[in-house]
Amino acid sequence: KVRVRFAPSPTGGLHLGGVRTVLFNYLFARKHGGDFILRIEDTDQNRFVEGAEDYIQDTLAWCGLVPDESPVHGGAFAPYRQSERKERYRAYAEQLVKDGYAYYAFDTPEELEQMRIQFKTAENPSPQYNQVIREQMRNSLTMPEAEVQALLDAGTTYVIRIKMPKDETLTFTDMIRGEVSFNTSQVDDKVLLKGDGMPTYHLAVVVDDYQMEISHAFRGEEWLPSAPVHLLLWKYLGWEEAMPEWAHLPLILKPDGNGKLSKRDGDRLGFPVFAMDWTDPKTAEKTTGFRERGFLPEAFVNMLAMLGWNDGTDQELFSLEELVEKFSMERVHKGGAKFDYEKAKWFNHEWIKKTPADQLLPAVKSALLANAVPVTDDIVLEKVIGLVKERCTLLPDFVQQSAFFFSQPENIEISAIQPKWDDKKNLFFAELIRAWELSTLWEASDLEKEFKELAAANQLKPGELMLPFRIMLVGGKYGPGVFDIAEIIGREATLARIKHTLQ
Ligand code: GLU
Repeated sequence: KVRVRFAPSPTGGLHLGGVRTVLFNYLFARKHGGDFILRIEDTDQNRFVEGAEDYIQDTLAWCGLVPDESPVHGGAFAPYRQSERKERYRAYAEQLVKDGYAYYAFDTPEELEQMRIQFKTAENPSPQYNQVIREQMRNSLTMPEAEVQALLDAGTTYVIRIKMPKDETLTFTDMIRGEVSFNTSQVDDKVLLKGDGMPTYHLAVVVDDYQMEISHAFRGEEWLPSAPVHLLLWKYLGWEEAMPEWAHLPLILKPDGNGKLSKRDGDRLGFPVFAMDWTDPKTAEKTTGFRERGFLPEAFVNMLAMLGWNDGTDQELFSLEELVEKFSMERVHKGGAKFDYEKAKWFNHEWIKKTPADQLLPAVKSALLANAVPVTDDIVLEKVIGLVKERCTLLPDFVQQSAFFFSQPENIEISAIQPKWDDKKNLFFAELIRAWELSTLWEASDLEKEFKELAAANQLKPGELMLPFRIMLVGGKYGPGVFDIAEIIGREATLARIKHTLQ
């Protein structure tokens, strides 16, 4: 059975790369009728951020990528937080020591620091605890057994490290990259169990992927260098047959393709999905995210899917259902995917255009209410949304585009009318008021007809009158068709706004 997992560490907000990993996991699971699991990898107490786990859950919910199993949804493989599985890992670490694949290391932080100074050379500026250096250190490979036992009995703090074999080639097949090989001499003896008894990511990820029967593991390319450690652990623990298939997803790059996207890229960049309650430990800043900027989740998800994937055609707009149907890991590109904020906005605009007004209503209504626009009538609002959505790229754009439907504009850009104003126009609008006070129908097409006939009778071009009329109704040079506006705001408000400006 297909079982995939998203395994974040709760160390901050979720950024584009993380949510794209969620999305690809989710699409793959749904496409193959499998399970999508959320597992919280919280074994690093130093990097733990309060609230980050809730943030992850909220993000998944906002995007509509809800897991089948998670710390809150539960499931047959609970618990789904690594800190609550702590006891399971130690036994495996001990077993690896017994089988000769790992060893105890007693080096103190000072000794490790000393090692980094002692072995530092121009070619090797940051020496690692590896096959060569371990020979010089205090561990169960270099010390007599009795001494090791004595230290253990005395409760001395130790870590368990993997014993990387010398000069072996390890190979696995990545679903995106094909065959990938590593030489074990390039990899250091990673810690598996820490001094505080917690496993490191390397041990925990392998044990949990095994115990949770994960069939496919998809993660960011930055984890590729860890793959040899994981390959060996699967082998050493005797689980090779059960090892998931891996895919390492391409990095997300700046718009010019120059370098990995960083949170310092301002607007071009990698802000989080939505604002965090805490200061991002990585940037020491409070940032707003895609949600506050007025992205629709459908657009956000669509945009993310296109970061590194396409269906082989020019199609760019996909609903989540279509993505589930069309997605395949083999079509994900190896190369980095460029993120362009302008393109992200394009997706949002397209989604606003294609989403029916009634479905946009709740989000638009909260944007308007948040900006003190007095919306009361949902039927009117739905009509307004239908009229103005073509003009809106992000949700806050609805404020300018529709506030005047609900209250008389406070500022009338009178300077845009004045220079060309004359008595003839004054007379026209006075007559228009009289005509419209009497007209029996109040529909855009009739209003337009009457307006044009009256203009012709006064030897005026409708073009010269349309802008002043717009300014009277809206306050400025924006908004949809003036007669549509007049129809929606009604006779009373239309005439009041004309009179107000004529005074
Ligand atoms: N805990 C790792 C992270 O924070 C998970 C990597 C993986 O999926 O193996 O990204």
